[in-house]
Amino acid sequence: MSYGRVTGEVKRLLQDIVGPENVYDSPEMLEKHGLDESPLPPHPPEVVVKPRATREVSGVLRLAYERRIPVTPQGSRTGLSGGAHPIYGGIALSLEEMNRIVEIDEDNLMAVVEPGVLIMELHEKTEKLGLLYPPDPGEESGSLGGNISTNAGGVRGLKYGVTRDYVQGLEAVLPNGEVIQLGGKIVKNSTGYELLDLLIGSEGTLAVVTQAILKLVPKPQYSALLYIPFNSTRDAARAVAEMIRRRVVPFAVEYMPRDAVEVVERYLGRRMPDDEHEAYLIVGVEGNSEAEVEWQMETVGEVCMEHGAEDAYVADTEARMRELWEGRKCLFEAYKAFWEVDEVDVCVPRSRLPDYVEGAERIGERHRLRVVVNGHAGDGNVHAIIVKPEEMERETWLGKLEAIIDDLIYLGLSLGGTVSGEHGLGYTKRKYLIEKVGPVQVELMRAIKKAFDPRGILNPGKILP
Ligand SMILES: Cc1cc2nc3c(=O)[nH]c(=O)nc-3n(C[C@H](O)[C@H](O)[C@H](O)COP(=O)(O)OP(=O)(O)OC[C@H]3O[C@@H](n4cnc5c(N)ncnc54)[C@H](O)[C@@H]3O)c2cc1C
Repeated sequence: MSYGRVTGEVKRLLQDIVGPENVYDSPEMLEKHGLDESPLPPHPPEVVVKPRATREVSGVLRLAYERRIPVTPQGSRTGLSGGAHPIYGGIALSLEEMNRIVEIDEDNLMAVVEPGVLIMELHEKTEKLGLLYPPDPGEESGSLGGNISTNAGGVRGLKYGVTRDYVQGLEAVLPNGEVIQLGGKIVKNSTGYELLDLLIGSEGTLAVVTQAILKLVPKPQYSALLYIPFNSTRDAARAVAEMIRRRVVPFAVEYMPRDAVEVVERYLGRRMPDDEHEAYLIVGVEGNSEAEVEWQMETVGEVCMEHGAEDAYVADTEARMRELWEGRKCLFEAYKAFWEVDEVDVCVPRSRLPDYVEGAERIGERHRLRVVVNGHAGDGNVHAIIVKPEEMERETWLGKLEAIIDDLIYLGLSLGGTVSGEHGLGYTKRKYLIEKVGPVQVELMRAIKKAFDPRGILNPGKILP
């Protein structure tokens, strides 16, 4: 597809729309906005624009639509699939200045937010009020607009679900500049096709999210974390299934192999409670009375002991829980700090988790690459981190990486899983879409894209192969 360029005239028109101080074209800014957290080389845009209001977003899109200039919406650029890379140049539309929490509505238990609000800011604000916004992806500086557009998951998926389950309403701007309102402060809605659901997880390819209404829940008053060492992954996975059979639904069940525990210890410069076993579960339980939490801890402890756990370390104070969570949440950052890495985030049925972990390790051995499987054991969304050997040439690494990612994704699909559980397809995983959904659904998706974006300007090169 041939696109229009961002000429001097276009820059002047953009300045008229958002103000000269919100249009950037210095090499540093273009480089910065050409990247996210995926290992892709940068794709610098021709200009970066930071609107502060919906009418400005609408103005930018109307101009881009008329001139057929590609536009890439960007939040915090923490995505791991290259979704925020301006593959075709054009305009990087950064939503980071639209960052107000407009309202916390305690009567309806809903928050109204702009897309640039960081998820950690919403967590902090709601938790002070005894409320919880349950989605909790590992990267807390991700924006809510980015979370909605990737349907972000995180550690609370088992009990609470994912971002999709908390989006009640959206204001969004279509590629031609038209503003639409979807859903609202309503709990039920059976009124036509649910376009709201279509926009969630659409990775900025259908419309730009400019405001969202998010559901909140009361925050349970008591919680605790358990750190449980096992001698094998299979034992740990069987323990997870048994906890649920005994009617304990933890808010988090995270899996870390010993390799990950050791790397985290090196990164943080402090010890985790144990680092001498093959596999670890971090289990989070919560409730509205101490007795409820106590009962869950005891049941989880019993189940784990019955399945070969050696011990169970309890963190039941704010400080100890924070320390343990920090160990889990910095895991990807820790690997990135020492090596070049990439990641696959398939989601398989929970019962197939041990098969995935063992299969992924065999794939690593076959390719002679270190593969560290970790992640959200409670919901089957596992992250396979692939580590570049220090001495390996870059060209060799890139070739091997492509081959091993293929194998790790096909393994997930063969176990009844999906290509990406939470990071999205973006640019790097889009070739796998057809493998999961087949040609009929890909054609339906192309037709949907065309209905929203007939000129193909919004985040081209993403999701669809
Ligand atoms: C250390 C680390 C840990 C992570 N852990 C998790 C995890 O546990 N769970 C998880 O789900 N993800 C995780 N991620 C990935 C990432 O944080 C999420 O994908 C997050 O949702 C991206 O938000 P963002 O604001 O950075 O979006 P960006 O990276 O800027 O954009 C992501 C996509 O959303 C689109 N987009 C952004 N804003 C808008 C908007 N307003 N309107 C329309 N489209 C928009 C972009 O075009 C792009 O396609 C992790 C990342 C890192 C680096």
